[in-house]
Amino acid sequence: MASTNAKVVPFFNYPFVFTSHEAEHLSIIADVCRRGAFILQRDMEEFERNLAAYVGVKHVVAMANATDALHLAIRAAGIGPGDEVIFCTHTMVATASAIYFAGATPVPVECGPDHLIDPASVEAAVTPRTKAIMPTQLNGRTCDMDALQAVADKHDIIIIEDSAQALGSKYKGRCAGTFGASGCISFYPAKTLGCFGDGGCAMTNDDAMYEQLLLLRDHGRAPSGDVVLWGLNSRLDNLQAAVLNHKLKSYDREIARRREIAARYRRHLASLPSLRLPPGPEDDPDHFDIFQNYEIEAERRDELRDFLKQRGVGTLIQWGGKAVHQFAKLGFNQRLPFTEELFTRMIMLPMNTSLSDEDVDYVCACIEAFYGSSSIDYQKQHGT
Ligand SMILES: *Cc1c(COP(=O)(O)O)cnc(C)c1O
Repeated sequence: MASTNAKVVPFFNYPFVFTSHEAEHLSIIADVCRRGAFILQRDMEEFERNLAAYVGVKHVVAMANATDALHLAIRAAGIGPGDEVIFCTHTMVATASAIYFAGATPVPVECGPDHLIDPASVEAAVTPRTKAIMPTQLNGRTCDMDALQAVADKHDIIIIEDSAQALGSKYKGRCAGTFGASGCISFYPAKTLGCFGDGGCAMTNDDAMYEQLLLLRDHGRAPSGDVVLWGLNSRLDNLQAAVLNHKLKSYDREIARRREIAARYRRHLASLPSLRLPPGPEDDPDHFDIFQNYEIEAERRDELRDFLKQRGVGTLIQWGGKAVHQFAKLGFNQRLPFTEELFTRMIMLPMNTSLSDEDVDYVCACIEAFYGSSSIDYQKQHGT
C-alpha cells in the first residue's frame, strides 16, 4: 500500500524543529558553546525576561522540564502530605505525578465536552483537605477560568495551571499560565515552542513563590551560597534557553500558521456528521486557541486510524489511549464515565508548521473517502 500513497504526512516532523532554520540554530549553538555558557547564564535570564513580557507575567523560572516545574510549583505553594489537589484525567500523567511527588494526593475529576476540566466535577470533589485545583490547558485551549476561579474562591483554595500545552493561549485576553498561583509551560520538542531536548518553566506573579522556585530549582542554594532548603537540580540548560529565546521572536507566526491549519481542517471536515471538531479559531471571542494539537472525536475511530495509516497519514491517540485514572497500576479507583467514553472516540490529526496546505487537504480527502465509501459499505451490509 505504501508505494501507492499520493503522499506521506507524518504526525509530527521532529527533524523540522531543527532544520526549519538550520543555519541560525547552528550559529546559536556555536556561540553559546564557544562562550562556555552552559548553566544559569545570561541567555537563560534573557529568555526568562522575554517570555515573561510575552505572556504578561511578573516572573518566569526556567526549568529542566514542565513536570519538574509543576512539582516544584506545588511545593513552593506549601502543598504536601495530607493535602489533596484536583486534576482532570484527560491530561499527561505528569500532571498527577507532579502532585504525587510533592507528597499530596491527586484527586481525579471529569473533563467536559470541550475536553477540558469540568468545573462542576471540581466543585463536587472539594473536601476539607483540598488545597488546589490543577486545570490542564489542553491542546492549546484555556479552560473556563472564571468558573474555576469561582470554585477556588468559594473554598479558599488556589489554582496551579498545567499550561504545558498552552503558551500564548488566552481566555478573555489573558494568557494561560498567568491565572493561578503559578502556571507551567513545556518546551518539549513537539510542543508549540519546542527546544532540542527537554525544557520547561514555571510562571508566577507572586514574589514569594518566585523566590521559592529559584531556590527549589537549584539545590536550595541562596545567592550567598548558603543552602536554605532541600532543592532539586532542575535548571534549564543555557543552550536550550538560547535556542528558545531565538524561537520566541517568531512564535506569533508559528501560532498564526497553526490557526490557519485549524481553519482549513474545519472548512473541509465540518460537514461530516461522523466527526466532532474543536471550535474554529474565530468561533469564540472569549478564547484565543494556539492549537498545540488538533484533537477530534470520530466514529469508528480505530478503523479511521488504520485507514489513514495505510494512506501515509500519521495520527496519534493522546496519552496512549487512556485517561490518567485508567492506568491501573497507579492506584486510582475512580470511575469517570464521561471521560472514559470520550477516550474511545478521540484522535489527533497532524498539526504543526511543517504541514503545507496540500498536506492538510490530503489528510482531509482521506478522511472524506473513509466516511464516504464506508458509509456505502455500511448501508449495503445492513440493507438500509
Ligand atoms: C508535555 C506535557 C507535560 C510535561 O511536560 P515536560 O516538559 O515533558 O515535563 C505536562 N502536562 C501536559 C498536559 C503536557 O502536555
